[in-house]
Amino acid sequence: MAKVVEMNNDGFVEGEEYYCPECKRNHTKGKIYKDHLKYILNGVPSEDEQITAEFEDANEEYDTLELEDESYGNDDGSEDDINEDGIDEQEINDEDIDESIIDDRDSCINDVKSLPGVGEATLTKLIKSGFNSLEAIAYTPPSIIINESGLGEKTTAKLIKASMEKLKIGFKSAEDVWEHRKNIARITTGSPELDEILGGGVETGSIIEFFGEFRTGKTQIMHQLCVNVQLPKELGGLEGNALYIDTEGTFRPERIIQMAESLDLDAKKVLKNIIFGRAYNSDHQIILVKEAANLIKERNIKLIIVDSLIGHFRSEYIGRGTLANRQQTINQHIHDLLRLADIHSDLAVIVTNQVQAKPDVFYGNPLQAAGGNVVAHGSTIRIYLRKGKGVQRVAKIVDAPNLPEGEAVFSITEEGIKEG
Ligand code: ADP
Ligand code: MG
Repeated sequence: MAKVVEMNNDGFVEGEEYYCPECKRNHTKGKIYKDHLKYILNGVPSEDEQITAEFEDANEEYDTLELEDESYGNDDGSEDDINEDGIDEQEINDEDIDESIIDDRDSCINDVKSLPGVGEATLTKLIKSGFNSLEAIAYTPPSIIINESGLGEKTTAKLIKASMEKLKIGFKSAEDVWEHRKNIARITTGSPELDEILGGGVETGSIIEFFGEFRTGKTQIMHQLCVNVQLPKELGGLEGNALYIDTEGTFRPERIIQMAESLDLDAKKVLKNIIFGRAYNSDHQIILVKEAANLIKERNIKLIIVDSLIGHFRSEYIGRGTLANRQQTINQHIHDLLRLADIHSDLAVIVTNQVQAKPDVFYGNPLQAAGGNVVAHGSTIRIYLRKGKGVQRVAKIVDAPNLPEGEAVFSITEEGIKEG
């Protein structure tokens, strides 16, 4: 482990190294936020990761973090640009981003500029360290902003408060809530029956949880939604991109290709529009969600997926702390997701969750998803999946504020999620 360098906000020198407690490595000031995730995902594996290394190696070609802009740099240049399938890893540069997205990025920066007390010097520090939107400032723990940008504690606290106010994080009137709900849109699942019980597809502006046993189709539905969100609105899409946080190593680009081709879409383009992050442990998962806040507008993200939500927390917290401790961390994580859905009424946030076939002390009945009450209360709409005959699966709405309880049968086919 390299030498730990003391932090000194006043004596901020770009390029100076300091120890980052989040990913437990040294970072370089001024550029660390950009490198942060790369260090985590490509850095020295922790003991936990070494245990699962065999499993991850099998999926190596999919384990590239796609959250980085090309300007984020690549220290050693050793990452392969082409994977085994010959599919270009997604390098997103300005030429690939359409003008409206660049406009959005500029407007994000202008929002930051308009915060009280932000002059050119502060703005430069913020932008350089990757805090280029109100969301990025509001959602990042102060200690990280301080470390990354070199700004002082008081300034950081003020910036976070002002960003939260501008984003209306806190109380709002019922009229504001109605304004928010009016913008809610839906993404088709591919199954008309499933769409129907969901009120016309999965809706934006809330957390939707698909839970069920192993092989009930959770991951398949997540893949399908990544494709469908890109469809034109008249075909049930949102003309937007997807961000996929994979905690289990089960994302398969080849499935995306099959599904895209069956809809006559350009598969390569569809893959390019899915930003992928592999979360190796619960800490990575939490950071990826926080980082996602930066990308929503910039990359036209209309769908965020966490597949699966609780897995890491469950396995890690066994020897790491009390159940209460774990639930509190999960609670915070879910609230990060809820805030995203709250702020972006045109963004769908979808999570998957496991159920225990053999209920243990924490998970009372077979219909109970992992994570207990915290998860149940955090997600707005919950769908329980179970196996039917052959390729058929049954979905049941378990808990939704404005949907009747209902069941739908759908099929998992080579072409994706289809009618049952
Ligand atoms: P979960 O995430 O709930 O554990 P999955 O979403 O991985 O489950 O679903 C697994 C199911 O999807 C399996 O029953 C498998 O048969 C089906 N499946 C996976 N790939 C294909 C494919 N290419 N063609 C048809 N069915 C598939
Ligand atoms: Mg799965």
